[in-house]
Amino acid sequence: MKYILVTGGVISGIGKGIIASSIGTILKSCGLRVTAIKIDPYINIDAGTFSPYEHDALELETPGTASCFNVGPGNPSSGEVFVLNDGGEVDLDLGNYERFLDINLYKDNNITTGKIYQHVINKERRGDYLGRTVQVVPHITDAIQEWVMNQAKVPVDNNTEEPQICIIELGGTIGDIEGMPFVEAFRQFQFKAKRENFYNIHVSLVPQPSATGEQKTKPTQNSVRALRGLGLSPDLIICRSSTPIEMAVKEKISMFCHVNPEQVICIHDVSSTYRVPVLLEEQGIIKYFKERLDLPICGYSSYLFSNWKCMADRYERLQKSCSIALVGKYTKLRDCYASVFKALEHSALAINHKLNLMYIDSIDLEPITKAEDPVKFHEAWQKLCIADGIIVPGGFGVRGTLGKLQAISWARTKKIPFLGVCLGMQLAVIEFARNCLDLKDANSTEFEPNTPVPLVIDMPEHNPGNLGGTMRLGLRRTVFVTENSLLRTLYGDVPFIEERHRHRFEVNPSLVSHFDQKDLSFVGQDIDGKRMEIIELTNHPYFVGVQFHPEFSSRPMKPSPPYLGLLLAATGHLDAYLQQICRSSTRGPLRKNDWNSDTSDDSFLEPTMADLEIS
Ligand code: GLN
Repeated sequence: MKYILVTGGVISGIGKGIIASSIGTILKSCGLRVTAIKIDPYINIDAGTFSPYEHDALELETPGTASCFNVGPGNPSSGEVFVLNDGGEVDLDLGNYERFLDINLYKDNNITTGKIYQHVINKERRGDYLGRTVQVVPHITDAIQEWVMNQAKVPVDNNTEEPQICIIELGGTIGDIEGMPFVEAFRQFQFKAKRENFYNIHVSLVPQPSATGEQKTKPTQNSVRALRGLGLSPDLIICRSSTPIEMAVKEKISMFCHVNPEQVICIHDVSSTYRVPVLLEEQGIIKYFKERLDLPICGYSSYLFSNWKCMADRYERLQKSCSIALVGKYTKLRDCYASVFKALEHSALAINHKLNLMYIDSIDLEPITKAEDPVKFHEAWQKLCIADGIIVPGGFGVRGTLGKLQAISWARTKKIPFLGVCLGMQLAVIEFARNCLDLKDANSTEFEPNTPVPLVIDMPEHNPGNLGGTMRLGLRRTVFVTENSLLRTLYGDVPFIEERHRHRFEVNPSLVSHFDQKDLSFVGQDIDGKRMEIIELTNHPYFVGVQFHPEFSSRPMKPSPPYLGLLLAATGHLDAYLQQICRSSTRGPLRKNDWNSDTSDDSFLEPTMADLEIS
């Protein structure tokens, strides 16, 4: 096992996660099996422990400070809780690894200080330390090393072989108090793992203050000095900068940071994250990795990597655009919808369109905003009206639901392509019941516990006593109950699918019969037919709701079918695409089971899109 530790210097938020994922992509394209571990030095056990109920209370007290989507406390930069197949609620960076490497990670691939301490304290309670004093060094640091070594071995793609390379990203920056036990653990670990198996990449910032326009190396020098002071020496210094770094600057970093010039790599701001692996590869890091870690690489112009190059090029050449309105809560905190944004972008790129995502705060669509700030209200409605497609993503709490319901009405009646995800689907069902059935008072018990028409209800097994762990989480099966379903076709005409969930409420199965013979049907259900998982509206170009979160399994080269459908409908290509699938059922863009099959390199949509002449 080769371990690549990625640390950060100067400030956080400079793209360490993207760089670490990109390195994984490059190594994977060299034919190696790669896994990833993200370390978040905060004390929470995971990102999902913040109860939506508490969150709602907080939200009422301090509007604008809380996230719409369960912020991981202690990690203020994050917004979205990313959900894994095993139901792990983790930092959104794990999503980058899954997307870049096309792998499926587990909750133990996200280490937090809380998890490590919990593990050590449990051992202490069991008496495993035989009454000795339990200390940060060696007990916490040993636990960190053991965790990393055990988790690195767990296969993460559909093949059962152990990974060969484990990329470990240490969150935060060198010098943070919270990160110290982890740095110390890796200082010890480099000797345990041996030099040829351990590699440190330090991602730093080279600022360019506008006063002089000069690229400054001092912050990088200082952070490398801090890193060395803690006993780790960088094998590669990756400098983030706004413009390409000049040779003289590179040489200066090399000289002051005690590394060869070829160990200084520059990643300047680029048009898309797809460009990052390409930039890294162009600077010759494969050769360096190969030699330093003695990697079994022979030739690396793999098909996978050329696909990345082609994707980055295509992204820059996109001419047509498609505007999608995302109607959510606190849309200023864009990270809340990171995976939704990515999933939309994957689909847009697959059909050669630039994504023009318009964030709308659902409250701005409500009468209250009309009364208080009419300009804001009209601007929000104007955005909604010009959108080619509308998405209402997941969310918690009653605030802003009225605006979401209005956006859904607009999409339904004006026949604008619509995708409702989780809460978005629940609201679409409520909207339909209120306006098309005789159920004017239909509501969710989440918003009105004593509603006379509880159309969306608390799940029976829901246990409100605990914080965290009370949701239906992770990969669950949805069975298509009819052949006549758009999503079924988009998924490649499969009888069932498995997607990730994160919810507490669901459509009340005892009221589903009201929808019989109506335009809205529940085409996907759980295996017992009790849980409504997918809705579709007939007599509409694309009106789809899903109880699951398909965005978590969307990949750049395997866009998520519900999102792809939205983009195809929004650009007017859905019918041609469906005909194409019917014509060549053996060679649909998302072939049978492709969305969850093994990592087949040739699953990119481009050939089929070329057939469709979407250029
Ligand atoms: N609040 C809703 C529920 O708990 C929806 C959750 C979500 O959108 N993720 O069921």
